[in-house]
Amino acid sequence: MLNIILFGPPGAGKGTQSEKVIKKYNLTHIATGDLFRKHKEEGTSLGKLAQEYIKEGKLVPDEVTIKMVDEKIKENKNANGFIFDGFPRTVAQAEALDQFLKANNMNISGVVALEVPDQELRVRLKERAKTSGRVDDQDEEKINIRIQVYHNETSPVAGYYEKMKKLKRVKGVGSIEEIFNAICTSIDSFKK
Ligand code: AMP
Repeated sequence: MLNIILFGPPGAGKGTQSEKVIKKYNLTHIATGDLFRKHKEEGTSLGKLAQEYIKEGKLVPDEVTIKMVDEKIKENKNANGFIFDGFPRTVAQAEALDQFLKANNMNISGVVALEVPDQELRVRLKERAKTSGRVDDQDEEKINIRIQVYHNETSPVAGYYEKMKKLKRVKGVGSIEEIFNAICTSIDSFKK
């Protein structure tokens, strides 16, 4: 079973690349941002709670996020493998994911970290705001908060997997195809 984490800051291209990776490796996509937005559209209490944090550019509490991911994995017991996109975003989430996978005889095969300079992220998120319809893309202040939250709370997750020798860094600047090829090279190395 191939279980991949596509890691990186907001605007790194995780969503775009995940779509391509899913097709090539026949994986099930678990994107926590997408799941929260779906809950919001459906008007669930989880969606309403998450939105309070999302609109401020802050992280949704770990407990809520972890529970949602656990449920999603359970719903897809027969999956060929998973690609986690936008999760884990804290070391506590990474530890909870490891525990949950271990209890179900699974593990993380490897983590691909997309690296994009902050200035480029700001440009991309401002551009995405024109079409994404996402409240958290519209406001420059919220974009800055999300990038800061990434540095403070999320980037330590890379170190967590690096210690386990599961992390591959990929330059997230270039054409979509170039970046995709580099991601595939990393994923293929996890399979060996
Ligand atoms: P994304 O679509 O991945 O950019 O996520 C949009 C927003 O959803 C983030 O800015 C957070 O507010 C929230 N979110 C998504 N994934 C997580 C996570 N793993 N932990 C906490 N909050 C999250």
